Amino acid sequence: MRALVYNGPRDVSIQDRPDPKIEKPTDVIVRITTTNICGSDLHMYEGRTSVERGKVFGHENLGEVIEVGAAVERVRKGDRVCLPFNISCGCCENCERGYTAACLRANPGSVGAAYGYAEMGPYDGGQAEYLRVPYADFNCLALPEDAAEKENDYVMLSDIFPTGYHATELAGVQPGESVVIYGAGPVGLMAAYSAMIRGAYQVIVVDTQKDRLALAEQIGAIAVDDTEQRGVEQVLELTKGKGADRGCECVGYQCFNCKGHEVPNLTMNNLVKTVKATGSIGCVGVFMPQDPGGADELAKKGQIAFDFGEFWNKGLQLGTGQASVKKYNRHLMNLIHAGKATPSFLISHELPLEQAPEGYRNFDARKDGWTKVVLKPGR
Ligand SMILES: [Zn+2]
Ligand SMILES: [Zn+2]
Repeated sequence: MRALVYNGPRDVSIQDRPDPKIEKPTDVIVRITTTNICGSDLHMYEGRTSVERGKVFGHENLGEVIEVGAAVERVRKGDRVCLPFNISCGCCENCERGYTAACLRANPGSVGAAYGYAEMGPYDGGQAEYLRVPYADFNCLALPEDAAEKENDYVMLSDIFPTGYHATELAGVQPGESVVIYGAGPVGLMAAYSAMIRGAYQVIVVDTQKDRLALAEQIGAIAVDDTEQRGVEQVLELTKGKGADRGCECVGYQCFNCKGHEVPNLTMNNLVKTVKATGSIGCVGVFMPQDPGGADELAKKGQIAFDFGEFWNKGLQLGTGQASVKKYNRHLMNLIHAGKATPSFLISHELPLEQAPEGYRNFDARKDGWTKVVLKPGR
């Protein structure tokens, strides 16, 4: 099969790889029809992780089941399925409680597994023609009859729609509240969209990229351009000086200030400044336990200089971590099926798999207009 392979920092290519096979009776093989490039793929692409050369990337996958292991009972050949980026067993202590992002069995010796990702187990990704799906009965979300027609919406259930929703869940967004979101990338936009689904009366999105801010406005959010570093001031003005009820961090530690410098603590400290006292913050942007290429001494050790005094003084609460996609994907699927959510609005480019390296280059360069790239293997 053809697959997108990591050769080293900022070097990926499409290569021939052996087709995946059923390795355990609980596996299925999926022919991938849509697979996304994710902002978190860029951490690996830029050489900021320990990911090994030869890894096939891709954790946002959708396709058709073409082969089924002997112990698979529910999923059938021909089913169109969307796969959570988390690979989870369904029956460990954490999966039992719904925390599939922290599965204890899918990546032995560690917590949590994913397709095609650094430190997340030996699994190849789905930016390829075919993908092996472990624990298939548990992991496959079978899609309804409009699966083909709404494929670009349903594929967002693999990661960014549930992850954006998770940010609002961690922040505890309630109807009639105001929400400030740092980051208007795909996850930030999905958090804004989710905040509206949950009934927020005011959703403020802060970023410096004009194309992304335009999308935030398109879905009814208030866009705050932080290019002049007046973002915090503007959010406080919009919330009568008190700050928003809830805040979401959708950037991560690779956060750039207006001068193009990486400032790992920028968004977290801005959230402390712009969420009201006793409010809460959901942080889903990626922070790494260590990064040899980190912007400063703290970042190299996975630390940030956090305004903990002000955070404590305001009595703020903070929730963090990856989304357990299975907690949300079925309900969000129902919204898409019923025509009440169309997350495909953020797709800017649809490319055949063979052009994936070009997609990586442009997305990594944050080239104007490249907000979300979906790849179509087999086209
Ligand atoms: Zn992703
Ligand atoms: Zn598990």
